[in-house]
Amino acid sequence: MSSDAAQPSTVAAAKPVIGEEEIEAAVRVLRSGRVVQGPEVAAFEDEFARLVDGRHCVAVNSGTSALHLLLLALGIGPGDEVIVPSFSFAASANAVRLVGADVVFADIDPDSFCLSADAVAAAVTPRTAAIMPVHLYGHPAAMDRIMAIAERHKLAVVEDACQAHGASLHGTRVGAFGDGGTFSFYPTKNMHALEGGMVTTAAPEVARTLRLLRNQGMEQRYANEIVGANMRMTDVSAAVGRVQLSKVDGWTEQRRANAAYLDKHITTRAVTVPPVAEGARHVYHQYTVRVRGDRDGFMEALTGAGIGSAVYYPTPIHRLKPYAEPDRKAGRDWDLPETDRAAAEVVSLPVHPSLTDGELERIAAAVNNWGETQ
Ligand SMILES: *Cc1c(COP(=O)(O)O)cnc(C)c1O
Repeated sequence: MSSDAAQPSTVAAAKPVIGEEEIEAAVRVLRSGRVVQGPEVAAFEDEFARLVDGRHCVAVNSGTSALHLLLLALGIGPGDEVIVPSFSFAASANAVRLVGADVVFADIDPDSFCLSADAVAAAVTPRTAAIMPVHLYGHPAAMDRIMAIAERHKLAVVEDACQAHGASLHGTRVGAFGDGGTFSFYPTKNMHALEGGMVTTAAPEVARTLRLLRNQGMEQRYANEIVGANMRMTDVSAAVGRVQLSKVDGWTEQRRANAAYLDKHITTRAVTVPPVAEGARHVYHQYTVRVRGDRDGFMEALTGAGIGSAVYYPTPIHRLKPYAEPDRKAGRDWDLPETDRAAAEVVSLPVHPSLTDGELERIAAAVNNWGETQ
């Protein structure tokens, strides 16, 4: 790609793409006068199926709605427990609480940052209804082992693939392992639809229930079959999403190439670059290193060198108020040492597909220069 400008500007931590094609697609739908869920949404659903090994796809207005409706469609509710990693975005656990079920937190694997299969096995109780692995940062969770635990105990599996469009494990795409999967199209994700989400499932009856739930329980207008919400995607969003979907494979290759560059050129031993599990295809929504030592100092040094960075997530979900307070009242205490350690050590570096060669060099140099001071 292009070389550096004379005066280095700040390298953004994330850079959503809203290009001419996306703008033209949105304008085309706006000019048509038909903006609500319609033919663009239907086409987006058909086309997205190629990213999830042909599963049924149902578009909704956000990744959080996708999780919420999938749990409802699988009949998960009060009295049920769902095993969730605490090291994730709050939406993962929020969806469980929104359907009235109880969140059971399990610890992560320190290499992948995703749910530890051993921790999942230890967290199963007679009330467990589902496991929710999160493919964090774009790395697939240990689905082979998690699916085996689910089969043994007859549990549903809800994949939170909101950060992992196109990731796979041993050739199977995320969103195609469990009873259902969910994707987000928030602007900073690997592809976006302004805002939006997608639910994927192998079961046609679950797909039908999802279509009812997102639209007031109706298939035919005013012939409501069940109680539902309005979580529809607009045709404007879907048109933008279709453009992004046509480009996401190229962007993923660029993210993977950027990550390979950083893996090779970050040579300081003061940070640990992200390992990739055997058989995993990582799509690098984030390129997340561990810093052993002064993380704030590391991030300040990066800022000084004009490199954006971020911590996902500084506070594990079980330490956030809506979770910590009821736990305190119930006398519940989670023992999640790897979650707490990751929250204290991680820093995500820029890996987005718009990075130039010069910017990649600057990122690696800034990291290595800080390492020399340690
Ligand atoms: C972004 C995200 C969500 C929620 O998606 P929204 O579209 O923002 O509602 C859920 N889970 C994870 C892991 C996410 O990163």
